[in-house]
Amino acid sequence: MPTAVLISFDTEDFVSPAADDALLRLATLLTSKGLRGSFCMVGEKSRVLRERGRQDVLAALLPHEICFHSRDHSVHPTLAPRCDEAGWTRGLAEVRATELEAMSWVKEIHRRDRLFTAVPPGSNVAPQTIWLYQRAGIPTYAGGFFGNRDGKLYWYLGSLQVPYTIGADGVFAKQEVDEVWKRFDAQAGWQTAVLCIHPTYTFHHTFWDKVNFDAGTNRPRERWEPAPARSDAEREALFERLSAFLDRIKADPRFAFTDYETLSAAAERKRAARRPSAWPAAAFAPLAEQPDWIEHRGEGGGSLSAQEALGELAARVTGDPAWREQLDPRRLPGPVDTPHALERNVTLSRAEVLKGLWKAQSELGAETQGLPAAWKLNGCSGGPGAMLAALAQLAQGRETATLKAGHPETCAGVKRSGLDGWKYGAWLYKPGFEGAQNLKLAKQMAWTLCPAEA
Ligand SMILES: [Zn+2]
Repeated sequence: MPTAVLISFDTEDFVSPAADDALLRLATLLTSKGLRGSFCMVGEKSRVLRERGRQDVLAALLPHEICFHSRDHSVHPTLAPRCDEAGWTRGLAEVRATELEAMSWVKEIHRRDRLFTAVPPGSNVAPQTIWLYQRAGIPTYAGGFFGNRDGKLYWYLGSLQVPYTIGADGVFAKQEVDEVWKRFDAQAGWQTAVLCIHPTYTFHHTFWDKVNFDAGTNRPRERWEPAPARSDAEREALFERLSAFLDRIKADPRFAFTDYETLSAAAERKRAARRPSAWPAAAFAPLAEQPDWIEHRGEGGGSLSAQEALGELAARVTGDPAWREQLDPRRLPGPVDTPHALERNVTLSRAEVLKGLWKAQSELGAETQGLPAAWKLNGCSGGPGAMLAALAQLAQGRETATLKAGHPETCAGVKRSGLDGWKYGAWLYKPGFEGAQNLKLAKQMAWTLCPAEA
């Protein structure tokens, strides 16, 4: 299968009117080549396009996909520090209010019923935003935690995670097509190769937000300044190279252009074709050791997040199919609180496991709680990893499950996906920002993580 190529535009500079012209030029260039770009709009950018009377730009965007790139991108406090300070529940409520409003501007101004991806501004990835966009009907999230170095797709928090694999704007100001192609060519055979282009950066040689919102500070609105412009020669050379680069991709049968709508529909079909209820118990055996995603090949195969596997095994052991839906990561996030460490060694009968499941089931469903962090296991308390391990043992036909104190509660997917090495970029935030609370939550949400096919 050819590598799926997306051309994703972080369309964000609402300060410089020249950035509107850059956007017009890019949309027109793609249309002339018969390509469909994915324009990820900052709410405030869409709003100023209308305010400045840029009907020409709005018209040029009509044949392209319209996506979402936050309400106001770099105005402080930005999404990641807001979420980091507020935690899951309050963070969700706070950012939901502002983000949903801006999504409605974008839909209205660009005349769309639905937006097909959301992209974090800068490195402002926060699990709360991934969840709330998914709940608001945006099926994918691009340029987030996953796949940026290997082009892999994942499901996470119920949303298809699409990587950004190559920056394709500023590089053409400095590098010839052949040099950039070398890097792109190495991505042939990957699941996806996603070009990230900032329209403003084709006309300006510094980032617009570096000028106005550096290091956690807001320049007052009346003093916002456009970033310095590229020279005419530099800009023309950049567009010539970008154009030649797109032609080269188009002519190469190892790559096929797509958009977020098509990609998410394909992934959803694969997801719906999974039949985990028919998977052999052996497929779940590794879960007796540590929570993880599991994969099964063959008819009805695919992958399941640890949370889905817990739902599947609970349904099997209790005979109640509702578990599968109740733990579906599109309806329930991973644990919001720190999963409890199992207090002591325990041996559990089937009846004791069932008791623990029924107790938890009566409290299931709130997005403010997510997957319960504590489960009753024969008079002591353990995390969902302990319950999953007990179920995996019973599913193999054993009459009792035995668990050791301190059973692992961190999903193996944290490491397998590279999430453990992910860090916030530096220049936009106040010095020293690390987003420790966001990253801790992000790792807990790995209960909802598994590879995706498309
Ligand atoms: Zn951006």
